[in-house]
Amino acid sequence: MKQAAIGVGSNLGDSVRICRDVFHLLRNHPALGIVKTSSLYRTSPVGSDAGGWFINGAVLIETLLEPLALLDLMLDIERSFGRVRTIKWGPRTLDLDILFYGDSQIDLPRLKAPHPLMSERLFVLMPLAEIAPDWVHPQTGRSVRQMLALLLQTDHGQQIQKLEK
Ligand code: ADP
Ligand code: MG
Repeated sequence: MKQAAIGVGSNLGDSVRICRDVFHLLRNHPALGIVKTSSLYRTSPVGSDAGGWFINGAVLIETLLEPLALLDLMLDIERSFGRVRTIKWGPRTLDLDILFYGDSQIDLPRLKAPHPLMSERLFVLMPLAEIAPDWVHPQTGRSVRQMLALLLQTDHGQQIQKLEK
């Protein structure tokens, strides 16, 4: 069994509903054991073409799936929620990213893990800090809690609000 974390994001349609439905679907998926789900957050878009605000959350899972099989499952779930890929970083009904896969360092064309931008993104680190504060980044040696503290000290310019459960 490996522990992995999935970042969940949506900014098209009823994004709160979509994220809650995704949590439910992941919780009931036979190939995944759910360890923890985070709160949901409303977050300002990063990148110029991103559209409106996002809803973001994160899920800590246990799985026997290999990394690329886990990625394929996440992409299937994205498609099942009607995601259509248009412009990079554009609006999306659902984005499921593998944030980390154990302490593996993966650099394949289709999969980079840990997610290369995690340490710069408040919408990743805030929910992740709820469910995996002590996970340590294999390249930097920093825990999620440390990465979040460091990002919060910078002029990150990202807004984030926790939603009521
Ligand atoms: P982004 O999540 O960066 O906004 P997309 O969701 O459109 O971009 O992802 C496009 C591709 O990114 C996917 O088809 C997938 O192969 C690749 N990818 C690379 N690393 C990861 C990862 N850690 N998690 C999810 N997808 C990844
Ligand atoms: Mg993605």
